[in-house]
Amino acid sequence: MINVAEIKRQVSPVEVIERYTGARRSHGKYPCPFHADKHPSLSVKADKWHCWACGAGGDVLNFTQKYFGLSFVEASVKLASDFNIEIEAEPTKRDIWAQVEAECRQKRRQELQQVREDIDGEIEAMTIIHRAMFRSGVPDEVLNRYAKEIDDLENYKEYWR
Ligand code: ZN
Repeated sequence: MINVAEIKRQVSPVEVIERYTGARRSHGKYPCPFHADKHPSLSVKADKWHCWACGAGGDVLNFTQKYFGLSFVEASVKLASDFNIEIEAEPTKRDIWAQVEAECRQKRRQELQQVREDIDGEIEAMTIIHRAMFRSGVPDEVLNRYAKEIDDLENYKEYWR
């Protein structure tokens, strides 16, 4: 997304013409690169340029387009890059989605953390019961089944990473 207004705000036709054509102003005008200009006839006023001889004129973007034979977008990119202009515009839809996604992930992380803590609590309680059952001589078959349930919970906890 290119912020053309930002380019126009930051780069003046004077800078663009001088940098790209290498010409310097004489008697307030530049030699026009768009016709065989014997006497400088291109003048600049604020963010516009105009050639009094051939009638060409416009802003920094169409100067760059015309001078290098570029499309509008190519000219924007060239200007932004040559004059170090940040060309990212207002937050795009993409940025907003990324923001929403980050918030959802954060929320999910908190929920997962909660689930893991709940499972940990469950495992701890079952481990205490398992030990008590072992001490009171509960048959191995029951103990093993109980131990397997604890294992399952451990695995289940892994699932919530
Ligand atoms: Zn001209």
